[in-house]
Amino acid sequence: MANGDKLAIDGGTPVVSEPLPAGVSGPSVVDEEEISAITDLLRSQGLFRYRHGGQTAQFEAEAAEFLGVEHALMVNSGTSALICALTAVGVGPGDEVIVPGYTYIATAAAVIATGAVPVIAEIDESLGLDPKDLEAKITPYTKAVVPVHMRGVPARLDDILEVAKKHGLKVVEDCCQCVGGSYKGQRVGSYGDAGAWSLNYYKTISSGEGGLVYTNDRDVFERACFTADPGLPMWTKTDASVEWRNESFPRQTYRPSEVLGSMARVQLGKIGDILAHQRALKAAFLGELDESGSYSHQHVDDPDGDTGVSASVIVHDKDLAIGYEHALKAEGVTVGTIYNDGFPDRHIYSYWDTILAKRSPHPSGYPWKDPSYKGNVEYSEDMCPRTLDILGRSLRFDFNMNMTEEHARLMARALNKVDAALGS
Ligand SMILES: *Cc1c(COP(=O)(O)O)cnc(C)c1O
Repeated sequence: MANGDKLAIDGGTPVVSEPLPAGVSGPSVVDEEEISAITDLLRSQGLFRYRHGGQTAQFEAEAAEFLGVEHALMVNSGTSALICALTAVGVGPGDEVIVPGYTYIATAAAVIATGAVPVIAEIDESLGLDPKDLEAKITPYTKAVVPVHMRGVPARLDDILEVAKKHGLKVVEDCCQCVGGSYKGQRVGSYGDAGAWSLNYYKTISSGEGGLVYTNDRDVFERACFTADPGLPMWTKTDASVEWRNESFPRQTYRPSEVLGSMARVQLGKIGDILAHQRALKAAFLGELDESGSYSHQHVDDPDGDTGVSASVIVHDKDLAIGYEHALKAEGVTVGTIYNDGFPDRHIYSYWDTILAKRSPHPSGYPWKDPSYKGNVEYSEDMCPRTLDILGRSLRFDFNMNMTEEHARLMARALNKVDAALGS
């Protein structure tokens, strides 16, 4: 074996000599533009979102245009956006909502916040919801499904939508990790009854915290507005230009401030550059991989709609994945696996302790013991063995705005080297 082929973990020279740049998409492109937008806003002292021509209202209009949808409502988080969307499509006590076993815990927690019960389904090699298991998990109580477009990659929407249609389920697309992503020429989130963005610190564009719920359905939009602000009908009573065609109801307050709205506007203006750069990084990475690789690739249903923030490969077994992870780390490349030492990936259902234990804030034990709930969902750490198996064999490479295409190629070369030595 030539010296350059000797793995760094065995004393060879690492492929990556300087640490790869770290960073998260939205925050790493913050510059004077955000600073002056927020400074101007503070000088104006107009921090309340219901201001004529306010920043939040303008962000909503610009986001709706970007998404190609009729209506968009900014809220204070992605979780709030999901709660608004679920409530707006009619989810509530007694209902079950199917979510994939690979997503942030907030997807399932949002279901619980509406009073409904989350049902956890398997993912497949797309690392998104498995349409077959979705169908298998449907009961007479299933009201909705939440496909999640994880790590920037669109889920198998065609198949999921077909199952949903066949069984009369509402669809709320969790696009929190796929802001700017699309599917077969249309933005993700615009196929279902509603879509949700998160603008938290880690997301493609960010206002620190924030979210957006969007839809083409005016009734869904109005109900989302009521869900996000119990005072809304009062705020708008004296505004002749606002007319609600749905009956309002009181719920919680998920209003964002104008600080969030003004920052989100600036970040939305940068989304084209962010997506272009991320996609170039992923293309450079994939283009540099040896064709003889012993692993398979995550199934990407629509590569054109991928936001390019991650690329996952799937090896033959779990021990091999751990070996790759250690060897890659020695080469200077950190990969995401479900085994990352000491830091369990909270995106996997088996770590959602509070949900698996059906912990309720109230002695009644709702939503699971709500008298209107007639189902009998059970949870356990190993209830989705295929999800654990696939994730256990997956290695995720993350790309960020501080990287160059050469960094992405180095990551690929490290994988080529490790695979040549350890793959079979
Ligand atoms: C980030 C995220 C959420 C929640 O968003 P917050 O803004 O943190 O409330 C929901 N679902 C997924 C898949 C996420 O990644």
